[in-house]
Amino acid sequence: MKKVLILEDEVNIRSFVVINLRRAGYDAIEAGTGAEALERLRENPDIGVAILDIMLPDMDGFEVCRNIRATNKLIGIIMLTARTQEMDKVTGLMTGADDYVTKPFSPAELTARIDAIFRRIGGETNTDSEVLSQGIFVLNTRNRTLEKNGERIKLTQVEYAIMKLFMQNPGRALSREDILTSVWGRDYDGELKIVDVNIRRLRIKIENDTANPTFITTVWGFGYKWGA
Ligand code: CA
Repeated sequence: MKKVLILEDEVNIRSFVVINLRRAGYDAIEAGTGAEALERLRENPDIGVAILDIMLPDMDGFEVCRNIRATNKLIGIIMLTARTQEMDKVTGLMTGADDYVTKPFSPAELTARIDAIFRRIGGETNTDSEVLSQGIFVLNTRNRTLEKNGERIKLTQVEYAIMKLFMQNPGRALSREDILTSVWGRDYDGELKIVDVNIRRLRIKIENDTANPTFITTVWGFGYKWGA
């Protein structure tokens, strides 16, 4: 059974999420503090998705996110944000989260986001050619790694999915909608901004000069283009 961690200190919300995760066929693992969440993750390295609340008694959800990402690039991370915390979305994504859900959320919305992440994790097929090599970049689709000049660049699964899309479409302008649909899935109802935030993060990792990107270039009013 696919394992999902829910970190939320408010017992009522946590129970509500747990009940709905179980109803959706997931194995729900609970944590009420950041420390407890990290402990559960150590005990259950096969957790595929972690849902992290931001306001917690011992540390904030972004710190938990950074802690998880320091050792685990592949786990899916969804932040729970309050409607008033608009900036949290960006902060959360910059600390390595893949997605966010705004409170109050419906169980269907949350499980749709979790399903989308599991589809991405399991969506890789062996019919893909194993290595995409362009210029100084090599993307290995079997072990999901990116190298620049032979140096490994650590990517989250969303960043990996975007890089793969770029490297499968070199020189082609991709609209932000194309990227959103391809990476987050057709059912995703989030905002286009999530594409820009992930591109910004990718540029920090792969560009020589983030202020003057040469690999991922902006196509004004449309989207982005890859060239290496
Ligand atoms: Ca809370």
